[in-house]
Amino acid sequence: MNEHESSSALLKAAGLRATQPRLRVLSILEDSTYPLSVADIASMLKRPSVDQVTVYRTLETFVQAGIVQHLELHQGRSYFELATREHHHHLVCRSCGRVEDVEGCEMDSMEKKVVKKSKHFSTVSSHALEFFGDCKTCVQTR
Ligand SMILES: [Zn+2]
Ligand SMILES: [Zn+2]
Ligand SMILES: [Zn+2]
Repeated sequence: MNEHESSSALLKAAGLRATQPRLRVLSILEDSTYPLSVADIASMLKRPSVDQVTVYRTLETFVQAGIVQHLELHQGRSYFELATREHHHHLVCRSCGRVEDVEGCEMDSMEKKVVKKSKHFSTVSSHALEFFGDCKTCVQTR
């Protein structure tokens, strides 16, 4: 399946019309291996360009349809990534806000411990975990 086909299949499955901005924003998210901000996505959309307001509205539609996840990772900055990605965590640079995906998760045993210790909860169904540090670029330019 090429990019265009998989993006339009995703839109169709979500019950959304496959407009050009939607297809282009979605294929950028499909290609990315880390979460992107509205500005990141807008800067990747050239010829013809798509303004940030349109990118933002398109992302909102995707979030409502459940195909894209909205993340707030660094000082309230918003990032977006495909909701269909496998469960993973994020590593965030506390200086510049660069975000990297951290594949794999070893929190299953932690979830069991959390439930065991809890007074009021009998199950844990999900979790979110972010790591904060300094990226190599920020360390070098310091
Ligand atoms: Zn950095
Ligand atoms: Zn991610
Ligand atoms: Zn996890």
